[in-house]
Amino acid sequence: MTTPFRKTRLFLCLLALLIPATGYSQTQAEFETWLTDFKAQALQKGIAQSTLDAAFKEVTLNEKVLELDRRQPEFTRTFWQYFNKAVTDWRIQKGQELYKKHRPLLDQVTKKTGVPGRYLVAFWGMETNYGGYTGNIPVIESLSTLAYDPRRSEFFTGELFSALTVLNEGHVQLEQMKGSWAGAMGQCQFMPSNYLRYAVDGDQDGKKDLWGSLPDVFFSAGHFLKELGWQEKENWGREVALPKGFDYALADGKSAKSLADWGKLGLKLADGRALPKEEMDAKLILPSDYRGPAFLVFDNFRVIKRWNNSNNYALAVGNLADRIVGRSGLSKSQPADDEAMSKADMKAIQERLNWLGYEAGKPDGIAGSKTRAALRAFQVAQNLPADGHPSARMLKHLNATHR
Ligand code: CA
Repeated sequence: MTTPFRKTRLFLCLLALLIPATGYSQTQAEFETWLTDFKAQALQKGIAQSTLDAAFKEVTLNEKVLELDRRQPEFTRTFWQYFNKAVTDWRIQKGQELYKKHRPLLDQVTKKTGVPGRYLVAFWGMETNYGGYTGNIPVIESLSTLAYDPRRSEFFTGELFSALTVLNEGHVQLEQMKGSWAGAMGQCQFMPSNYLRYAVDGDQDGKKDLWGSLPDVFFSAGHFLKELGWQEKENWGREVALPKGFDYALADGKSAKSLADWGKLGLKLADGRALPKEEMDAKLILPSDYRGPAFLVFDNFRVIKRWNNSNNYALAVGNLADRIVGRSGLSKSQPADDEAMSKADMKAIQERLNWLGYEAGKPDGIAGSKTRAALRAFQVAQNLPADGHPSARMLKHLNATHR
């Protein structure tokens, strides 16, 4: 005879059997099948069986990694929102302290690679708050998950092979091999393929330990930047002042001109002095609107972007490096009406421009050169400074304008 209690228990048992059968365990099973196949390939590529056994012993499909990979932020941060979060007083002060403390080591790295210590410290600060947070997701697990997932499978499969090679070569203990959700490792957040290509055993103990050895971290970062083309004698860029009536279309971050030519167009350093008399080409960037800072950027700016392909990132690294050696901050500050925009807002700007007769192209929510040119034409017609910078403020202007 079945008691009500036993009935409930039976029901719960059935439920427990049913829940994992929907979706999750099925995916997990597919993952296991994929993994078996991958391990066979890894073995063929020369990864030791013992490395594979240890590396995958506790690996499961990590749902959190998939979730983070698919996350689409609703709003794009403005330059100011990004910059003020990246170059904080704490980061500047800590960077100055650590720069002093590690000066002898940093000088050795500069001698070897040509990269000044202030940049090495700035990258270190931007990537992991000076080694304070290097990520806690097991790298083999995050990379296996992303390699299995079809979205960017090819790229992450390559990174997974690289990570196994790092383990195979015995540079790091498995338990220590943790990183960001996307598999970036150690105090400077190298992806495994970059680790294999650029990591250096700075303290010459036989291991390239980017988690625990600062000489290894700094020599590796310096080597990486040097290999990407760091120009020893050059800065990353300078903040500049634009003259009245300047043609903002030139601030496209693409057109290279000599410093002498920029000088002829009326550009000066932000503090009012003339541009340096060096024979260098530079590009002009206006990351916010006409009220914000403008920058002339040099070749090393491109190198910084190879680390992380974002103007805002590179501007923050460059400025943090400057601040670490006591140079001044930006000459402008965030205006009160600086507001993040959603993709829908950006589309609304494009739609409104089109409706008003300015050709912004097909509204796709991405501010390309066509959108900027259309916005500049609108601004000229409205007698506004024609910076072509789409913003929440401009959307309001557009919405208040009628045909
Ligand atoms: Ca070492």
